[in-house]
Amino acid sequence: MGRVVVTGGAGFLGSHLCHRLLDRGDEVVCLDNLITGSLSNIADLFGRRGFQFVEHDVSTYVWVPGDVDAVLHFASPASPIDFERIPIQILKVGSLGTHNALGLAKAKGARFFLASTSEVYGDPQVHPQPESYWGHVNPIGPRGVYDEAKRFAEAMTMAYQRFHGLDVRIVRIFNTYGPQMRPDDGRAVSNFIVQALQDKPITVYGDGLQTRSFCYVDDEVRGFLALLDSDLRGPCNIGNPREYTILELAQAVIEVTGSSSEIIHEPLPVDDPTQRQPDITRAVDKLGWQPEVELRAGIERTAAYFRGILAGEKAAATEA
Ligand code: UDP
Repeated sequence: MGRVVVTGGAGFLGSHLCHRLLDRGDEVVCLDNLITGSLSNIADLFGRRGFQFVEHDVSTYVWVPGDVDAVLHFASPASPIDFERIPIQILKVGSLGTHNALGLAKAKGARFFLASTSEVYGDPQVHPQPESYWGHVNPIGPRGVYDEAKRFAEAMTMAYQRFHGLDVRIVRIFNTYGPQMRPDDGRAVSNFIVQALQDKPITVYGDGLQTRSFCYVDDEVRGFLALLDSDLRGPCNIGNPREYTILELAQAVIEVTGSSSEIIHEPLPVDDPTQRQPDITRAVDKLGWQPEVELRAGIERTAAYFRGILAGEKAAATEA
């Protein structure tokens, strides 16, 4: 049990993390500037013992009074639609924000945990991707703002470990989905489920033969905590190695939701990776972690969440 700072704690992953940390008895200081995070993700935590929320942009100087045992740096917009909308903020939170969060951890003698990403592998030419792969990233393309910010964040984190002796962990997060995703997040899973629930066309970009490996959020967060509590230095992939084409994902969503949606094709975004699958040997061997939730079961739970959101939106529209 300890006192943990979570940057980006009102976001999709950050809010799940705040919940799990409190459940196990940690105190949580949640920092978020709410640029993509939402107070509705943590509404049930206000008033809960050991929880504190501070609205703050970690790209500017960060200070948290009192003892801190760990700093978990999850702040960053992370959806491809954000890469075009708020590119400078993404570069700033990955660089300046990581520096500030590292500085806080160093000043407090706290463990530092970086939320990195499978995007450090870019459009990978090694498949599946082990942590030893250096990646294939276009630094000047539209995705470069996220990919390079996270690569810089990893370099900065490792420099703090080497130069300052900081105790660091780095998780490389692969595609994750589940409740608390924004309905307008722009991701394949959220788009497809929201479209299917409204019987609207499912928008598959390109031919849909590109692949991703989708991890349910509960599995993912269990992996984060296993890594946080371990003595594993250096990056560790956490993701579900079961690989699907985007067309297979679309079909699974239609089946699970019982939708009458048809599949339509739209242009493929620039630099969209053709394949992605984590090699999780390190996580399995060193953390004893592996995912448990199968895609269809995860879609079912996520669809239940989005059904509630859509019903709420509909009720609000009727009242207005
Ligand atoms: N995608 C799609 N339709 C959508 C949203 C995304 O076909 O409505 C595709 C996207 O081009 C990519 C894959 O689904 O090939 C996963 O996209 P997502 O944005 O979920 O994650 P990322 O590209 O960051 O892995």
